[in-house]
Parts: sequence; C-alpha cells; structure tokens
Amino acid sequence: MSCANYPGLYVHIPFCKSKCPYCDFYSITTTDQIGAFLSALDAEARLYRDQFPAFDSLFLGGGTPSWLGEAHLTGLMKNLRRHFTFATDSEITLEANPDDLTADKLALLRDLGINRLSLGVQSFDEAELRFLGRRHTARQTKAALLLIRAAGFTNLGLDLMYGLPGQTLDAWINTLKTALSFAPEHLSCYQLTVADATPLGRRVAAGQVGLPDEETQREFFLLTANFLTARGYLHYEVANFAREEKYVCRHNVKYWTRTPYLGLGPAAHSFQAGRRWWNFSSVGDYCSSLDAGQPPVAGEESLTPARIRLETLYLGFRTREGVSLGTIREQPDGNAIVAMLTQAGLVRLDHDRVIATADGLVVADRLPLWFADETGA
Ligand code: SF4
Repeated sequence: MSCANYPGLYVHIPFCKSKCPYCDFYSITTTDQIGAFLSALDAEARLYRDQFPAFDSLFLGGGTPSWLGEAHLTGLMKNLRRHFTFATDSEITLEANPDDLTADKLALLRDLGINRLSLGVQSFDEAELRFLGRRHTARQTKAALLLIRAAGFTNLGLDLMYGLPGQTLDAWINTLKTALSFAPEHLSCYQLTVADATPLGRRVAAGQVGLPDEETQREFFLLTANFLTARGYLHYEVANFAREEKYVCRHNVKYWTRTPYLGLGPAAHSFQAGRRWWNFSSVGDYCSSLDAGQPPVAGEESLTPARIRLETLYLGFRTREGVSLGTIREQPDGNAIVAMLTQAGLVRLDHDRVIATADGLVVADRLPLWFADETGA
C-alpha cells in the first residue's frame, strides 16, 4: 500500500442541500455564503502554496461538493490549479450525491479533471434510505450509476452503510449484490455510528431507536469482508475494499501511512512534520479569519514520540499492512503482547509485519490499547 512521496490535498465543501439525521460532519444547508467561502478558500490556498507546492491526490469532500453549480466548481478547480501543482497522474476525487448527477454535471466534472467519484449511496433499500434521511431513492442511484459509466468514469467508489436498526443480514447482502452489479472499482462499507449531538443520536438516547448489539455488528462486518473478498475485492483497510490494486484510494492511504496532507476549508485537518492543525468549524469564522489575512486555524498539536507510536499502532492495525515488528519491539513487552494477541486469533505474523486478522479487524481500534499504557499516551 505504498504511495508517492507527495502530500495529499483535502478540500472541505461545507454545504448540503439537507442535513442527514445521523451525520456529524460539519456542513450547513444555506447557500448565501458559498461565494464568500470560495473567495476565502482561494485566500487560504494562497497562504499554503509555498509550504505545500505539489500534490498527487486531491479529495473534494464535505458536505456535498456535487451540489455546487458549474461556475463555482469551475472557479474552485481553477484556483486550486493556480496555487498548487498536481502530478500528472494525480488521483482527483469528488464526493457526490446521486441526486446531483446529470449528464451535463458529469461532463463538467470530467472536463475539470475529476477522475474518481465517491458516491454516497448508503443503501439500495428504499426504506433504509428514508430512515437515513437521504435525499435520493435507490432508483435515482441506479440511474446515476448508469450516467456515471456513460460519462466515462472508470474509477468509481460507492459508500455503503450497514448495521442499521432492524436491518437484516439478507437486506445488507441485497444492497451489496446490487452495488456489485455496477462493478464499482471501490467500496467503502461503514457501520452506522451515531454521535450524541445528532438528531438520530438524540432518538437513540431517548430509547426511540435501537442499534444492533456488538455481536450483530461483528456478524455484519465478517459477512461483508467474506462476501467481498470472495468476489475478488482487496480488503485493504477496515472499511475499504478495492477491485484491483490500482483502485486502492491513494488519498486515504496517506492518512493511514501518516503521509503529510493539507486540509483546506472549515473543519479540515492538516498534518506535516509532526504537527497537526485544524480549522474553525464555522463558515463565518473561517471567512472572517481569512478576511483578516490570518490562517483559519482553530487549534493545533505537536505530536509527542509516545503519541506518534500510538498512532502508528492505531493506523497500522486498521490496514492490511499491519504494524512492523520494529515498532512492536519499541513497546515494553511488545513481543509478549503480540504473542497473546496471536494466541487470541486477533493478529498474525507475516514476515516482519504484525497484521490484524478478520476477527482482529472487528476490534482494530482497541488493539493499540494493549500497548497504550506502555506508550504513555
Ligand atoms: S449529504 Fe453527506 S455530508 Fe451532507 S448531511 Fe448527509 S451525510 Fe452529511
């Protein structure tokens, strides 16, 4: 899972036509600040052009970038290219919602150099989509998928969600089968997680909605992994599957391998040289800061060696690359802990790498905690 030495560029477009009740990403549903936001984004890019001159991946996420109109998308891409250099083989992804895509919009995206789409499908079950408060129907998604292929996109990722209240394994398999009928190059299969400060989180807290228990979630995860790997997909990260090696998402791999990245836009995070910083989660604060000629940075941290070790474990156990034995041996009792985790069937040794097994991936986020006290983090 190697990637070039270039950093990655993420741009957060904080606008959505409506707010899905489970979502805790920062976005707003009004459009009157789009112009001011894009001007501020241009100013922010200018601030970082010397620090991050070139990239080989660009990820336009949000929010809903596909909701922007032609003039805004064209201006945005023009400005990014004015400030930064993109390697010729750059992966340029745009997150899209099915109901935003028309033949004209897709032709525009291709003209702008977007060569990868990440489509927020979530489900092919109409009742599940209604529960999730999605704006599109399964029928619209299928129509959008045909348009995407007709427009010539050959690198398409679908985002899907499982572990919904009352969802059966059969219903989930049906969604996966429908997804595979469009031969997507990439699949991201996320378990529904509910943040407290969302409308769905409040319904869960009030006992109006019940989520699947841990054992059921485990069944969903293992079924997903088995179903997709049996059909040739590479399971390269807990939630991510690629149809071939070349479709592994270059941009996201940078996050997992601690490669530097620059995040522009409200709520975006950046990482370089052991420092992490993040922007204001407010379009107003973001724009005001840049109007005053200041970076819109809300906070930052310098990673201590202990924190870097913990992150290396945390990110590594989520991926098929695992963690190097060298890193493990830096931990007091590292070898003994790995022996215990191996005995429990949670990790396996492959040459000099310690890699989470399928059962280990179910609890990937907890594996580093075995080492946490020793790292002092
Ligand atoms: S469209 Fe995406 S970013 Fe917008 S509210 Fe829904 S899940 Fe969140």
